[in-house]
Amino acid sequence: MTAQPQASHFIDGAYVEDAEGAPIDVVYAATGDTIARVHEATPAIIGQALAAAARAQRDWARLMPVERGRILLRASAILRERNRELSELETLDTGKPLQETLVADATSGADALEYFGGMAATVTGETIPLGRDFVYTLREPLGVCVGIGAWNYPTQIACWKGAPALAFGNAMVFKPSEVTPLCALKLAEILHEAGLPAGLFNVVQGRGGVGGALVTDPRVAKVSLTGSVPTGRKVYAAAAEGVRHVTMELGGKSPLIVFDDADIEDAIGGAMLGNFYSAGQVCSNGTRVFVQRGIKDRFLDRLKTRTEAIAMGDPMDEATQMGPVVNAAQMEKVLSYIDTGKAEGARLITGGARLNGPGFYVQPTVFADVTDTMTIAREEIFGPVMAVLDFDTEDEVIARANATEFGLSAGVFTRDLQRAHRVIGQIEAGSCWINAYNLSPVEAPFGGSKLSGVGRENSKAALEHYTQIKSVYVGMGPVDSPY
Ligand code: NAD
Repeated sequence: MTAQPQASHFIDGAYVEDAEGAPIDVVYAATGDTIARVHEATPAIIGQALAAAARAQRDWARLMPVERGRILLRASAILRERNRELSELETLDTGKPLQETLVADATSGADALEYFGGMAATVTGETIPLGRDFVYTLREPLGVCVGIGAWNYPTQIACWKGAPALAFGNAMVFKPSEVTPLCALKLAEILHEAGLPAGLFNVVQGRGGVGGALVTDPRVAKVSLTGSVPTGRKVYAAAAEGVRHVTMELGGKSPLIVFDDADIEDAIGGAMLGNFYSAGQVCSNGTRVFVQRGIKDRFLDRLKTRTEAIAMGDPMDEATQMGPVVNAAQMEKVLSYIDTGKAEGARLITGGARLNGPGFYVQPTVFADVTDTMTIAREEIFGPVMAVLDFDTEDEVIARANATEFGLSAGVFTRDLQRAHRVIGQIEAGSCWINAYNLSPVEAPFGGSKLSGVGRENSKAALEHYTQIKSVYVGMGPVDSPY
């Protein structure tokens, strides 16, 4: 099996290769086979991409916004038409099962292109009357934006950053994760097929060093990173040196709180989605599942049964519900957290091992009797490992849910509406759910508080993060000067 792209990079409307760059092998997580090889961007490639973006952005910003939007809408339609092909590529890039990629990746990317394509022509400033004089404001693009992606949602992340950047008149240089370099190249191809002028959406490959070179280049106005907290700290600091705009979409250890009046099957369904979807490799996962003591045994019993019924296997088989984690290193990391969970006294309910055979499969794993101080309750694992913690009262669970340096997401399951809103109102997190989990439509702002990030993606909120305001004071009378 091969998924070799035409070349490693996509710059100024065309595929570009530079074999001088260090090789990056793309490994299919379900088999361990190498399916493609790309090369890291050399300084020459990075320079080429930034120069193309800076040049193209000037004309793009002057285009009628409705015309910019129309191109994004066309790209959205192509993504939908080619959903199967793109989903198969997403599966090869990440190992996520086709059952998921067919509904959650190119389709989510298409939603973003459609939403921001439609929004492009609605952007306006305001006028501020000052008696005789007045001020008007203009929403202007930032310029060249750099997007840096994580490996769990390579198509979605590229679209969630690229669509608003382009809609509002910016250019983008996107660096996918070195673990999943393939999907963003396809997106660049499709955007250009839809009529995007050359140079506006460029893809360069590389590891952290290439990301670092992009973040510190003086031509760059903004950096949007999706990644871990340690990387976020470095990228935020590097961007601060040049006083660049940033969006940071970072990690989490989010609470999912189940009260004893909840619909128990729904709550279990939410907890499973929030821990096992994409083999647990979702930033907003509710990995600390707080269950009120009265329903604990019933909850664990049904959770075990339903978890053991998850169909693991070949991601290309549409009946498969859970695939491997992304690579061998991630599998080792997840298995080591499982060992730590056991060693620190958490009770293993189900799972806890890798599958024999090829590929990087880890069983969906549930620990009960987890306490707040255990490592598996404090650190982001990014794998299919659920920690169930007990609680008694509402005030207690709110305090414990907030006792973390992260603040990405949170969920509450209860039939008591007042309690649901009261609890969510006190939780320190950016993206929350009541009686649902992990749904992230483009219409809703997405992002974290505390160490989980700054800024928001998607929704009308993205406008704030891909434009800047110019305010223009207009004097309508004689200049009142004392000199
Ligand atoms: P990572 O932090 O290892 O890498 C993210 C990206 O940053 C990669 O493209 C990497 O090459 C690049 N990078 C690394 N060092 C850099 C540097 N010094 N300068 C510039 N770029 C650098 O993250 P990952 O392992 O790819 O992804 C998993 C993490 O991402 C998890 O913590 C997860 O929670 C988080 N995540 C967050 C969101 C969100 O929207 N909040 C979404 C998905 C994933």
